[in-house]
Amino acid sequence: MPDFLILSGQYLFAWALITAMLSWLLALFYPLSRKALALATCHVKAFYTLAYGLLSPLTAVFVLLVLMQPELADSLVPEHCHGDDCSPHSPALSATGKLNQLLVICVVAGIFWVVLGLVQQLLKGRQQRVFLETFSHSPAPSGYKVIESSSLLAWCSGLLTPQIFLSSALINTLSEQHLKVVLAHEFSHQYRRDNLRQWLLHWATLIWPRRMRNSIRSDLKNSHDTLADLAALAMATKNSAMVETLNRFSNNPATETEAKTRVAWLEKEQHKRTARLPVFSQTLMLSAFFAAWMGLVIFTTYSAHPLLELLVQ
Ligand SMILES: [Zn+2]
Repeated sequence: MPDFLILSGQYLFAWALITAMLSWLLALFYPLSRKALALATCHVKAFYTLAYGLLSPLTAVFVLLVLMQPELADSLVPEHCHGDDCSPHSPALSATGKLNQLLVICVVAGIFWVVLGLVQQLLKGRQQRVFLETFSHSPAPSGYKVIESSSLLAWCSGLLTPQIFLSSALINTLSEQHLKVVLAHEFSHQYRRDNLRQWLLHWATLIWPRRMRNSIRSDLKNSHDTLADLAALAMATKNSAMVETLNRFSNNPATETEAKTRVAWLEKEQHKRTARLPVFSQTLMLSAFFAAWMGLVIFTTYSAHPLLELLVQ
């Protein structure tokens, strides 16, 4: 096998190993960071939940770059020598051992398999979008498209250029006031590109343990839905319109009582939003997040160097 292929394979393996280490560590601490965010507004929650989820693959790239700069990484790596050589060095990887070669090949094949799944999903999404575009029409200048269907449907589709689709049945059933509420919800998803955010989190947490993975994914989705509902509440001139929309036309129709509770809760959330966190607390939160991330980088650099040398000798 050509040297550059072996080297790239080893670096891909190293990235996957560090990503896996970080994924499990971050998943372990997720319930704690979730508690820390419990009192935050859904805006703040959405931001930090996504940032937390994206940490493992991105930090792995960063740690790998640090490990490749021996002078920089030297103070972060446990002291050790290779033979008589005790000078600062990048992880001493060699691919002569058959077992190690096999390990590297397996991991690289695994990464390609994941990338293939990702590309396949993107192509499928594109196909669906083309299909929807073909069979929909746009009542100009509305900003949404209408699909002929007897079900009550409203959704936002697409990652980079999201588009709102409403079913003809929904449009015929809704009053102008209800339509405004539903559209405000969907426009919020479209404007913030929530689909893209959820898609990124989905792939970044792929190897998290299942329970935590489901937990962080549904937390982000809930924050996005709350943000969209807040936008809808702002459009509903009467709260009764919001309650009616929630219990009749939303994606998860609620009973009258459930819908009322949700609107009351949203009003509280809206109040939290208007009484914004002081700049001091925001800075403090960002500093705490950054400090925790630095700690994570130091810990990972410290443990990844010997681990990589142990696995790829
Ligand atoms: Zn070493």
